[in-house]
Amino acid sequence: MFTYRPTPVRLLPVSDTLVINEIYLSLQGESTFAGLPCVFVRLTACDLRCSYCDTAYAFAEGTKQSLPSIRAEVQRLAKPFREGRSSKSEVRSGRLPLVELTGGEPLLQENSLPLMQGLCDDGFTVLLETSGAHDISPVDPRVRRIMDLKCPGSGEVARNRWDNLRHLKSTDEIKPVSFLTSVVSPPRRCRPSGLTDGKLHVRPKLCSIHGIGHDREIHPRSVE
Ligand code: SF4
Repeated sequence: MFTYRPTPVRLLPVSDTLVINEIYLSLQGESTFAGLPCVFVRLTACDLRCSYCDTAYAFAEGTKQSLPSIRAEVQRLAKPFREGRSSKSEVRSGRLPLVELTGGEPLLQENSLPLMQGLCDDGFTVLLETSGAHDISPVDPRVRRIMDLKCPGSGEVARNRWDNLRHLKSTDEIKPVSFLTSVVSPPRRCRPSGLTDGKLHVRPKLCSIHGIGHDREIHPRSVE
């Protein structure tokens, strides 16, 4: 009797690339790590369109880069800190510089997971900024996840993935962003941030949305 046997499928090597908008060294401007040196790896693309978004330039601009080349660039930018600018204990603990994956939305690209794993293996303290719209459970547990909770003013509240809340660890932080339109003029936004050790740390940041406002990372472009 004829038995159907499917032709064996040859698995092609999985791509080891990510589409990167930019990689740069600056100071961390958010979370409980604010003020510390940080290498930012900004990934291209986001599937949300928050009303206050200040990184629309990352929606589409970017170039494909391999995971080894991204890790090498992070190592290059981190080198001064590992050669003596930081205290020995900070370097030994992998504390400085921090490395943050941000966007856009890093979790839209599957290879962000092995990249974070590799950066943890390299000894860095790795932060992930995520919109809260995608499953955070596969992220390496060594990564500090800084997760947005979208408020109604964002226009994207329906995209909150509430199931993520049960995956948060004591080292993670949540970041609700809300508009204070009736209290101050012109409208300003307030960014309370931080859920650590079960306590919500409120760190309001006031930032004009009409002009020079910039309450995300302290970005080289903001001082040009
Ligand atoms: S999730 Fe972040 S990057 Fe995406 S639209 Fe909202 S603010 Fe912008």
